[in-house]
Amino acid sequence: MGDTLRALYQQMGLSPAVIDLGERTGEKLSERFRRIDRRAEYNQMKVLQAMRECRVNAGHFASSTGYGYNDDGRDTLEQVYAKVFGCEDALVRAQLTCGTHALHVALSAILRPGDELLSPVGKPYDTLEEVIGIRESACSLKEFGISYRQVELLPDGSFDCEGIRQAMRPNTRMVTIQRSKGYDSRPTLSVDRIGELIHFIKEIRPDVICMVDNCYGEFVEEREPSQVGADMIVGSLIKNPGGGLAPVGGYIAGRKELIEKCAYRLTSPGLGKEVGASLGLNQTFFQGFFMAPVVTAGALKAAIFAANIFEELGFGVIPDGSVSRHDIIQAVELKSPEALIAFCEGIQAAAPVDSYVSPEPWAMPGYDSDVIMAAGAFVQGSSIELSADGPLRPPYTVFFQGGLTWNHGRFGILMALQRMVDKGLVDV
Ligand SMILES: *Cc1c(COP(=O)(O)O)cnc(C)c1O
Repeated sequence: MGDTLRALYQQMGLSPAVIDLGERTGEKLSERFRRIDRRAEYNQMKVLQAMRECRVNAGHFASSTGYGYNDDGRDTLEQVYAKVFGCEDALVRAQLTCGTHALHVALSAILRPGDELLSPVGKPYDTLEEVIGIRESACSLKEFGISYRQVELLPDGSFDCEGIRQAMRPNTRMVTIQRSKGYDSRPTLSVDRIGELIHFIKEIRPDVICMVDNCYGEFVEEREPSQVGADMIVGSLIKNPGGGLAPVGGYIAGRKELIEKCAYRLTSPGLGKEVGASLGLNQTFFQGFFMAPVVTAGALKAAIFAANIFEELGFGVIPDGSVSRHDIIQAVELKSPEALIAFCEGIQAAAPVDSYVSPEPWAMPGYDSDVIMAAGAFVQGSSIELSADGPLRPPYTVFFQGGLTWNHGRFGILMALQRMVDKGLVDV
């Protein structure tokens, strides 16, 4: 590292010992990072080629208002998504307000009263509990007469094939598979494993519709679940595929007849994809998707970097420093409330926005303990930007993800460590 950079890091608050640990860890990971760059190169070409094939041009950046009829940019963007994800069609809209909303639209477009939804990979993401009606909520699927069943993963993380076979009922209409572990402790599923699971399910019941919650997984591998048999994949634009630029939005990609139903559910029967003004967001959505493979690669490097640093310092990390990755979330067991708070303070202090504020633990709806969150993001709540949070209860696990650039992710992690060092919570 050059002297000027070292001096700047010190001016920004890093001690020589923390800077050196960062250097050593980075060098140790160089071969692995090279492979991540190669994958990003492949995914970048995949997106570029789709944009070339769809003849994206400046006219597609025009805005529409009102009904949004004949919005060629919006329609072309959806074609680009469909091509990249290997699907027949896609719905990519600002009117899909977040990932949970996109998942709800996809579920309620397909399921009818009397149908059953099956999760063969255990409990879904927290917000889905109210969508499905696992936790009571007005307007849940349960209120509309749709039942739900789940089969846990086996203790070693493998699929409970016998349990899944038994759980498939005549009225099982749809299967939901969450790719990322989210904030759970099970392993994240690789695209290969999702493919095996879908193959197994379709052998029992070829007509069951398999949806994958793809949040945090896009561009981490060279293929998406839609390329190994998923009928629909769903995600949020303020995570990986928005590339950090999309200010809002969600997507659903999959088989044409299913996407048509999703569009009817999102807007209205009879209207479908025809309406939905793009409100000036087309260019940002195209550009964000174009950037997404490289942004995701940076976030992935930051997660691996953190796993290796904190593992070396004796903390439990999930996933560990050496395993292959299938999403961008990293968990670190910090073992004390002081360490969790210090970590989040460091992430916040490293942010480009709101770096001068200090995060505080607070009661949050849906949690039984206080939660601390650090996010100094350009887009509110964006988790492709560097962000961290954790509930204040043992083992004081921080979940963190994102980083629009690898340089920023790396600095954020070192600042988090520095705060812990400054408070005497760890020695480097
Ligand atoms: C983030 C996330 C969601 C929900 O997305 P929101 O945009 O927060 O509503 C659903 N599933 C998984 C696995 C996620 O990571």
